[in-house]
Amino acid sequence: MNLILIAPPAAGKGTQSEFICNHYNLNHLSTGDLLREVASKDDPKSLEIKELMNKGMLISDEIILDLIENKIKENEGFVFDGFPRTLNQAVSFDKLLEKLNKKIDKVIYLTVDKEVASQRIAGRYVCPSCGSVYNFKPDEEITPCKCGEALIKRKDDNVETFEKRYDVYMNETFPIIDFYREKGLISEVDSSKTPTEVFDDIKAVLD
Ligand code: AMP
Repeated sequence: MNLILIAPPAAGKGTQSEFICNHYNLNHLSTGDLLREVASKDDPKSLEIKELMNKGMLISDEIILDLIENKIKENEGFVFDGFPRTLNQAVSFDKLLEKLNKKIDKVIYLTVDKEVASQRIAGRYVCPSCGSVYNFKPDEEITPCKCGEALIKRKDDNVETFEKRYDVYMNETFPIIDFYREKGLISEVDSSKTPTEVFDDIKAVLD
């Protein structure tokens, strides 16, 4: 089974991808994670990617499609988290899947109000060691990760960059929902509920 998760920033794509991958034994493919790995290097191209990500801007479709092609050749059964993010990526992805004799089985569209997403961004912390993601309430104490490491904020998880990322999402990514709706692949899930409730709704769609 191959799934795509589409959602605005901080709708819980990463969290739900992990739940889905564990439950259905699928491979998590997050272009954001792949790019953060590239951006941690020191060459000019990596620094350019890092700068764009910190500003909440998109990386070129060419770079993204190369990353994807290399990964999906290696394995079967994926949850695509944060990809495709532009109509061009979606169209090129279709061609690539056809070439590799693969297909998308379902596209889950996680919906959440901008206000709720913005609040989640403010309270979102990640573990630099194991990659776990935590969401804290405004007056909650920031505790260390379950692995013991101190949590940090992602450079692009602040209110200003959120505004840019949300605009980019509405302009570039939102139109691909209709692209997949026309193919009969879209299932909409309300992501303003708790993570477990959202996952229950996703399972109801997939089972
Ligand atoms: P994410 O972890 O999905 O929130 O992605 C973090 C950042 O990585 C985004 O704000 C973009 O700068 C970049 N990014 C991730 N996926 C893509 C993609 N499919 N196309 C272009 N840029 C991407």
